[in-house]
Amino acid sequence: MEIDAAREVRTTCPYCGVGCGVLAKVAADGQVSVRGDPDHPANFGRLCSKGSALAETIDLDGRLLHPEIDGRRAGWDEALDRVASTFSKTIAEHGPDSVAFYVSGQLLTEDYYVANKLMKGFVGSANIDTNSRLCMASSVAGHRRAFGSDTVPGTYEDLELADLIVLVGSNLAWCHPVLYQRIAAAREKRPDMKVVLVDPRRTMTADIADMHLAIAPDGDVALFTGLLAHLGQHNAVDRGYISAHTAGFGQALFAASKLDLAGVAAATDLSEDELTRFYSLFAATAKTVTVYSQGVNQSSSGTDKVNAVINCHLATGRIGKPGAGPFSVTGQPNAMGGREVGGMANMLAAHMEIENPEHRDRLQRFWNAPAVAQKPGLKAVEMFQALADGRIKALWIMATNPVDSMPDADAVEAAIKACPFVVVSDVLAKTDTVRHAHVRLPAAAWGEKDGTVTNSERRISRQRAFLGLPGEVRPDWWIVAEVARRMGFGAAFSHYAPAEIFAEHAALSGFENDGARDFDIGIYAGVDSKTYAALEPFQWPAPSLSTPGGVQAGRDPSNTRFFANGNFYTPDGKARFIAIRPASDTRTNPDYPLILNTGRVRDHWHTMTRTGKSPRLSQHIAEPFVEIHPADAQRYDIGDADIVRISSPRGEVLVRAMITSRQRRGSLFAPMHWTDQFAAKGRLDALTASLTDPVSGQPALKHVAVRLEKFAAK
Ligand code: SF4
Repeated sequence: MEIDAAREVRTTCPYCGVGCGVLAKVAADGQVSVRGDPDHPANFGRLCSKGSALAETIDLDGRLLHPEIDGRRAGWDEALDRVASTFSKTIAEHGPDSVAFYVSGQLLTEDYYVANKLMKGFVGSANIDTNSRLCMASSVAGHRRAFGSDTVPGTYEDLELADLIVLVGSNLAWCHPVLYQRIAAAREKRPDMKVVLVDPRRTMTADIADMHLAIAPDGDVALFTGLLAHLGQHNAVDRGYISAHTAGFGQALFAASKLDLAGVAAATDLSEDELTRFYSLFAATAKTVTVYSQGVNQSSSGTDKVNAVINCHLATGRIGKPGAGPFSVTGQPNAMGGREVGGMANMLAAHMEIENPEHRDRLQRFWNAPAVAQKPGLKAVEMFQALADGRIKALWIMATNPVDSMPDADAVEAAIKACPFVVVSDVLAKTDTVRHAHVRLPAAAWGEKDGTVTNSERRISRQRAFLGLPGEVRPDWWIVAEVARRMGFGAAFSHYAPAEIFAEHAALSGFENDGARDFDIGIYAGVDSKTYAALEPFQWPAPSLSTPGGVQAGRDPSNTRFFANGNFYTPDGKARFIAIRPASDTRTNPDYPLILNTGRVRDHWHTMTRTGKSPRLSQHIAEPFVEIHPADAQRYDIGDADIVRISSPRGEVLVRAMITSRQRRGSLFAPMHWTDQFAAKGRLDALTASLTDPVSGQPALKHVAVRLEKFAAK
């Protein structure tokens, strides 16, 4: 089919972290159609079911189209003045840490940049955190511990070049479908390629796996610690690489050797034979990529899991090479962009560190900022706890729905209700969060706004508008900048447009960056609006940023692949092994004897505020359910399709039973999408606990002690 370039707009899918290119077209009658962009290097024309249904989800039904204050329609000036004056007054009376922003991986990089700049440079607090905390914070923390930077070394092409792909806690077939399609296509061409799936459930991804390790929940640290011990015992490590490019191997191996094969088998509930087969395959396959996602990150030991994986790649020198490396894939469309601009409470923009006085000083001078935050702020779970106990007195929530998606959701809702001043900027008028806002600000949706997003392989792509702004909606960056001006910071937030914000973001990444920081797109510092409009997808580090004749930390001038030269971003340039001892973790008890694993289905996204609009997407799975092993079903006298009650000490939900041997005995799986708006009863995150990983602050959403019973209506 011929592309009518004059009428098709090149943009990027707003759902998952694969970041597929989309061609969107508006017909003369206003009808929108989409198709995969054949020239985008993430997807080469492919789209999954969610991406191909994008046009069905962009009507104006349920949209927030005008600012509102206390439930009445207001003008922009009044609403913005109310937000600015209340935040300024709260800061003046209670200090900068009495206010907070809770933002989202749905925001474009330009939106994220402006919100982070206002909070960390001008308010003087680091109380800005993001729903990406729920998605990949453990990977960020693991990268920083091992590499000295939050650098994702992998690329999608590595998945096609690898001889072995190990998928850990990742249902790629449903959650990153286009990556799954790329692997499946590569396997057809290269039948020798092997795939191992490590997942408590036999998900659809198992269909391409040569080996499925149905691991016990949170057994991953033991599995990969055992792998490190196996590599050491069988002389399958790369001694030259370890000596030249790493530190801490001896301690990590010593810690790993505390657990013998029988101990690993007990901790993982895998047989010694299964373990030995997996370990031997890993040891024998130089071109191995280990892909991990929420099953690794959303855990109380998430950061240790990440480092246990990275340890094995460092021990074998399998990093920075084509078809080899650890590879964290992100859930959200712009989780990576948020990391670049410091959209997390413990980071500064451009991958600078909040604990580093030189970085704070650099940021202060670049922004000419009056009050750069001096210490890390509150991470997501801590932020809502601070809201509950009154330390946070004014909260601005942007593009996310924490009343449904945060762990211990009922407590989060109560905290939001009790907060003296809540602002929500959102696309929709009636999410469970929006209805509690004192001020509601109508934000532009996908297709209406311009900016950039960064996908899991560090590729920056444009999102482009192809629809006009309906009603009085405005882009998020504009809303934040207008509030900043009204708070008295006009000079730093004036004359903004997406191209100028991106240029400023790029300039900051290159500002006094002699290669000591990985994130650098400084070549785009002077980008003008015309160049920005035509920006092609590109990966960082941008190739032309290589320093001629000199090797920068982590960067080889002849090779844009991170860590190809064996240099990392630690002070001595060496990667760090982390000595890890698997901890036993018993969360169940006689009252709550089952482990609930929460996750996603193929055709819905987050709390269904968009995908719930498409009847086609709802046909795949029409209602909430819980997967139950047949033996557990028998134990609780539950039949297929019965309505069951799942309860924890925090709440309960009613869902339909799906009895399947794909599920482990003693464990349940339920999707997190359905809320009171769509379900029989209950939000799944009313059950989950606010337990977090101690390093990353990421909630343990995949291991919740619950009770199960057949529901009998009274
Ligand atoms: Fe969108 Fe992800 Fe599907 Fe690609 S794989 S079309 S980015 S949801």
